[in-house]
Amino acid sequence: MSKQPCIFCQIIHNEVNAIIVYQDDRVTAFRDIHPVSPTHILITPNKHIESLNMLAAGDEVLIQNLFSVARELALQEKIVGSGFRLVLNTGPDGGQSVAHLHLHLIGGRRMHWPPG
Ligand code: AMP
Repeated sequence: MSKQPCIFCQIIHNEVNAIIVYQDDRVTAFRDIHPVSPTHILITPNKHIESLNMLAAGDEVLIQNLFSVARELALQEKIVGSGFRLVLNTGPDGGQSVAHLHLHLIGGRRMHWPPG
């Protein structure tokens, strides 16, 4: 049986359309197809890593890159002053639905806690 291609890998390799707002040789960021706030951007490593549980030795710099891009995009989206949230869902109980590590950058409205 053939394995489903990873939708985020397809976006990263320009095989599926998305609104890409940032890309370099390590990281790609694009707008979430079902935004939950005025700003909702997904920030992913270009390398396929299924989840935070699958990090390998040497991936630390990549994680640092994801957070740096998140901060850069928050500046670009003008949500630094009002505040924003970074979310990293992991596994079924964490609400992860796409098996390619990604940060959600959400902002532009007041958030609540605890999340659902
Ligand atoms: P998570 O539930 O944390 O795995 O988040 C996956 C996110 O990917 C959800 O917020 C989806 O709306 C989003 N998503 C799924 N497919 C696409 C796509 N083709 N383009 C953009 N965002 C997507």
